[in-house]
Amino acid sequence: MRPVDTIHRSITTDTVLKRQRMISTPWAISADDLAAELQTDAETGLTSAEAEKRLAEHGPNQLEDKERAHALRLFLGQFANLMIGLLVVAGVISAVLGDWADSILILLIVLANAVIGFLQEWRAEESLNALMNMTRPSCRVWRDGALTERPVVDLVPGDVIDLAGGDFVPADARLASASNLECDEAPLTGESLPVDKTVAALPAETVLPERTSMVFSGTAVLRGKGHAIVTTTGMNTELGTIASLLGRTEDVQTPLQKRLTQLSRQLAVIVLAICLLIFVVGVLREPSGAWTSKLFTDMLMVAVSLAVAAIPEGLPAVITITLALGSQKMAARNAIIRRLAAVETLGSVDIICSDKTGTLTQNRMTVVELLPGRDDDEGIRELLVAGALCNDAAASAEGDWIGSATETALLRAAAESGLDVAKLRASQPRLDEIPFSSERKRMAVLYIGEHMAALYPGEGGTHRVLVKGAAERILARCRHVRQRDALIAMDDAQQTIWEDKLRRLTERGYRVLALAERSWPAATFAEFDEDPETNLCLLGLVAINDPPRPEVKLSIAECRSAGIRPVMITGDHQVTASAIAESLGLRTESDAVINGGELERMTDDELREKVPQVSVFARVSPEHKLRIVQAYQSQGHVAAMTGDGVNDAPALKQASIGVAMGITGTDVAKGAADMVLADDNFATIVAAVEEGRVVYDNIRKFVGYLLTANTGEILAIVVAILAGFPIPLLPIHILWINLVTDGLPALALGFERGEPDIMKRRPRRQRESLFSGGLGTQIFVFGTWMGLSSVILFKLMLLDVGLFTMPADESQKIDYARSMVFLVLAMSQLFYVLALRSSKQTLWELGVWSNWRLAAAVALGAALQIAILYVEPLQKVFHTQALSLRDLAVGLIVSATSFVFLECWKLIQRTRAAIAGSSAETH
Ligand code: ATP
Repeated sequence: MRPVDTIHRSITTDTVLKRQRMISTPWAISADDLAAELQTDAETGLTSAEAEKRLAEHGPNQLEDKERAHALRLFLGQFANLMIGLLVVAGVISAVLGDWADSILILLIVLANAVIGFLQEWRAEESLNALMNMTRPSCRVWRDGALTERPVVDLVPGDVIDLAGGDFVPADARLASASNLECDEAPLTGESLPVDKTVAALPAETVLPERTSMVFSGTAVLRGKGHAIVTTTGMNTELGTIASLLGRTEDVQTPLQKRLTQLSRQLAVIVLAICLLIFVVGVLREPSGAWTSKLFTDMLMVAVSLAVAAIPEGLPAVITITLALGSQKMAARNAIIRRLAAVETLGSVDIICSDKTGTLTQNRMTVVELLPGRDDDEGIRELLVAGALCNDAAASAEGDWIGSATETALLRAAAESGLDVAKLRASQPRLDEIPFSSERKRMAVLYIGEHMAALYPGEGGTHRVLVKGAAERILARCRHVRQRDALIAMDDAQQTIWEDKLRRLTERGYRVLALAERSWPAATFAEFDEDPETNLCLLGLVAINDPPRPEVKLSIAECRSAGIRPVMITGDHQVTASAIAESLGLRTESDAVINGGELERMTDDELREKVPQVSVFARVSPEHKLRIVQAYQSQGHVAAMTGDGVNDAPALKQASIGVAMGITGTDVAKGAADMVLADDNFATIVAAVEEGRVVYDNIRKFVGYLLTANTGEILAIVVAILAGFPIPLLPIHILWINLVTDGLPALALGFERGEPDIMKRRPRRQRESLFSGGLGTQIFVFGTWMGLSSVILFKLMLLDVGLFTMPADESQKIDYARSMVFLVLAMSQLFYVLALRSSKQTLWELGVWSNWRLAAAVALGAALQIAILYVEPLQKVFHTQALSLRDLAVGLIVSATSFVFLECWKLIQRTRAAIAGSSAETH
């Protein structure tokens, strides 16, 4: 056992010390004794005031946060880059050699670059934190005598928490009550089998995996219910001790981030090689052959500035921001992202496997038809009574019904028919139960039933079993049907009659439950050795309607045009499921329906062959979902899968996008999911897919822009050097262009809205290259053009054949020509980014201000560029000359060529597509 004082580090006062010491083995004392020690009430919990006091004393119930990257460290990290280091060194050398004005400016630009890099990374962190906060868990805790829902971080020792199947245990706690409670403690102990929990006190030396009277933070409740007194919170829990042993969790990069980090490394190597080449050729080529230190530092500055400008080291941070931005937009549309990688995976989803109830339908169930065995009012009443008794839903203090929608529908129907449900239940206390589960699709309860002996003579019944469940399964277990005062045998004829009734109801899309009873000779199920759910007597059928969500039909149509196949997975009857699937447009005549039984008989290979044609899986159990998702994945599909229960967790983990229900979902399902739907709505998944596609598009635009710009800059210098021209750009020019273009406009591209056809394209294949669809060619063509056009202008100006207003003074000519190159390279990029906003629509169609951030960034960049050419003090620092109006016009026209070309290209492509489309129609 660990020494007490290492367990409880947050102890402050003597009394607390005493209290904490007493509970170092809470599993060894009774819950009541523990409650007394912790000065709490095992039933009603703490008061809010006391809880607040304890919170101040013990601190929040959370594992120590990963220390936030310290701002200063983040900032200094920007300089921990070989190239920046070299640049600073080169700057210092050239300052020593006398060029100090240049050096200062270079250092300032480096600083500005670092600030931008810092802000980008800071923002990326902030957005990640915001993401974490959105998924903050809550738990049910007794405060001031009432059961309340509170954030897990607020828990304190002495709090009384309520636990049920599907919950995560929020803190270490001693059980005060437990009924059929089973926990999965694998995260803590590695034990993969469920652990049965009870309230019995254990010997003090019991080891952790055997402390069955305790529940532990971070483990999950699989089934059953109970309540428990919190003993330790935060880092003092067992999980906390492990967490501090294991240290911090690593940040995981999304696949795209990994690919881009790799890409920027590869580009770095290429750029470095080119810069080395520039440096060597630049030095060797010096006509005078005088290898002065100035020549060396000048060339070094050019080469290093180029390396700094052209290596896209900020790429991963900007990707994080763009992904995080996407996740915020998704949150605004009710899809809460739990893992950033999901944002990009969503863009390539091509299968959405969705639960029916609550996701495709409204989960507003109403009883629409009652078909009792005995065809009179008494029969209906009997059915309603049975439905109200064999039922776990209850009335809340506010007068609503709480529980599953199926069960509340039954209670509502009973109450509306005039039954007093509370009184009925009080008069018939439940003696035993076999709870409902999605696997069994039925439940049974036991009551005293004195009249049973007369109804079922010869069976010795003193008690009554009521069973409710999926109709066809209950029918198969019935031996009789109740009619008026007689029983009739469930023979083939009766079976057919009831199956017909069932079919008629399911064809209308209703969920149909059957209610049945039998007599039982004992006060518990265990006492009599027979299956209580066999030899039943049918009381009747209840049809429940759950209307489809109206918006889902549209979303399904949208899925289809977006190349995504929606698939329904439901526990409901095959015919009910098909009827609803058809009404939603989810299923067509040719689509197959598979039910759980068939699925069980299929091998994995058979299932894999079959899944492409299936649109409805009916009467399946949660564990089938894992096989279904695997079958799709083995076909190369990217499948999203929804779920809400504990048993859905494996399938949610396996799915490319696990989607948990925010309202009806359990903690465990949410914990396993990549995305949580705040409104449980299928349409939200489709909205998230759309946002995912937008994010990917924007990342492509952004990468395309950055790489085109860098190609242009590098080519301008490489071509000039190889052709024996003077260097067309000074280091400050290169750095400045990089600052103005890579910074704001590139970031603003992340705010671009989706293209109008975004949900009309096929999903992107997951392995698809970022540069597919012509992006690589585009980068090459426009980068080359930007580089070449500026070098050609440069050479023409230096030739001085009367095309340009060159200054008379020979020494100023080169600066004048460089000013032109500087202008053209910077402005081409600013124009170009405007054309990149959409791959189909022109800037005029989009509206210049529809992405105001980008418009503002471009306007600011252009204004600064002009100022650098025309404002005298700036001319001095940047070594620029004022271009004549005519030359300025020529420069701007050349800069605009890429923009104009790209815009025309879009129009040509569109016309071609339209012609192809109309000729396809006429054929
Ligand atoms: P879906 O899978 O479409 O989201 P669901 O999750 O509501 O539906 P389950 O709860 O697994 O599906 O229910 C499966 C079947 O079990 C239902 O079709 C119904 O016949 C039966 N059933 C559902 N709830 C109960 C209940 N409380 N008592 C008895 N039987 C039930």
